[in-house]
Amino acid sequence: MSGFKTKSRSVKGSVVLVTGAGSGMGRATARIFAAEGARVAVTDYTLESAEAVARALASQGLDTHAWKLDVSSPSEITSVVNEIAAHFGGLDIVVNNAGISGFVAIDDERYEALWERCVTVLLSAHQRIIRAALPYLRKSAAPRIVNIASTEALGATALDSAYAASKAGVVGLTRALAVELGREGITVNCVCPGPILTGMTEAVPDEHKVIFAKRRTALGRYGEPEEVAHITLSLCLPAASYITGAIIPVDGGLTARNA
Ligand code: NAD
Repeated sequence: MSGFKTKSRSVKGSVVLVTGAGSGMGRATARIFAAEGARVAVTDYTLESAEAVARALASQGLDTHAWKLDVSSPSEITSVVNEIAAHFGGLDIVVNNAGISGFVAIDDERYEALWERCVTVLLSAHQRIIRAALPYLRKSAAPRIVNIASTEALGATALDSAYAASKAGVVGLTRALAVELGREGITVNCVCPGPILTGMTEAVPDEHKVIFAKRRTALGRYGEPEEVAHITLSLCLPAASYITGAIIPVDGGLTARNA
């Protein structure tokens, strides 16, 4: 067929930075990218947790390296992003994944501190990492940014306003940067996971998970971290060159379901 253009569906050789990659969805994302031949900068709040993941991947012959990156530290963001780009000789893909959670009432004395922490870790970190990565992304043949928000950005749960507001901010940041950076071919998309089996939801008793998932999701179950990571990977393929500013729920149908 003349005029038919094929595009690569491989991230082989791409350099990927994943934040919060020591656990849950970040760890699954690092694994899936590495297994597809990407070169993965595994970063996390502690060096130990990042190293544990990088070591496991390296033992399978995959190309990874670990860094301590506390995303609440602007200076650490700048230095680590530069180190990663120097180590791998560039940077093509950023996955802003690191996160925390906390449920506190609006009139609780702990609210202000939780608000500050959520905004810093869940929202400000994203723009800081993107700004640090931008000079390298601009040199990439297929530059991609994926921000991990939440279905809490699209609906909300009582006592979760600091988290929900931060995640809604991630949606706004994604759209605005998609528009701002689109002419440069840099795509910026947002994944909104629903209830996923990770460290963040570990404390929820199993029976509560079952009741919640059956009542609220279409698929009737919690998701696995890999089921989110595969969508993140799809958004980062060279072939995914015409999707940007998209807000994609990966939630087992939670946001689709009314009753
Ligand atoms: P998780 O607790 O398993 O992993 C979170 C990771 O973030 C950990 O490795 C932790 O060390 C890291 N982290 C926390 N604070 C950090 C900081 N200041 N600097 C660097 N790293 C830091 O949880 P998860 O569910 O895999 O979370 C990943 C993302 O998914 C988060 O942004 C979270 O808000 C989001 N999310 C999770 C769910 C869910 O149901 N699990 C649902 C929607 C969105």
